[in-house]
Amino acid sequence: MDDCPFCQIAAGNSDTELVAESAHSVAFYDRYPVSEGHALVIARRHEADLFDVDPEERTDAWALLDTVRELLLERFNPDGFNIGVNTNEAAGQTVDHAHIHLIPRYLGDVEDPRGGIRWVIPEKAPYWD
Ligand code: AMP
Ligand code: ZN
Repeated sequence: MDDCPFCQIAAGNSDTELVAESAHSVAFYDRYPVSEGHALVIARRHEADLFDVDPEERTDAWALLDTVRELLLERFNPDGFNIGVNTNEAAGQTVDHAHIHLIPRYLGDVEDPRGGIRWVIPEKAPYWD
């Protein structure tokens, strides 16, 4: 799709370099990273919703996620990761080509990291209070 930035990256029509690639998937650094090494894994073929990505492509993307994790461990030595997918506008998706966020985390990068992904709904995140 010509008007999709991630299709352009997957096709090599952009200045964004790939971090890794596989048969059905590519990975690259997020242009606006929330932490050092924040990467995105996408299927080469355009689908907006990850649940509409074919099982074979999805399996391939999750395998590439492992490869990218290894690269990020070597390059940035993070202490943990958040893995996330925003599916549809209600869940905060802003780029309409399904993607998996791999967000390296570093001890001390926020004051209290408890809950992690639960902070998508801040009022409900701290269940331990
Ligand atoms: P989401 O809100 O889950 O759809 O995430 C979209 C992600 O894509 C955000 O983290 C953006 O920083 C990132 N992003 C947007 N445009 C680009 C781009 N051209 N190249 C790389 N990452 C991008
Ligand atoms: Zn696309």
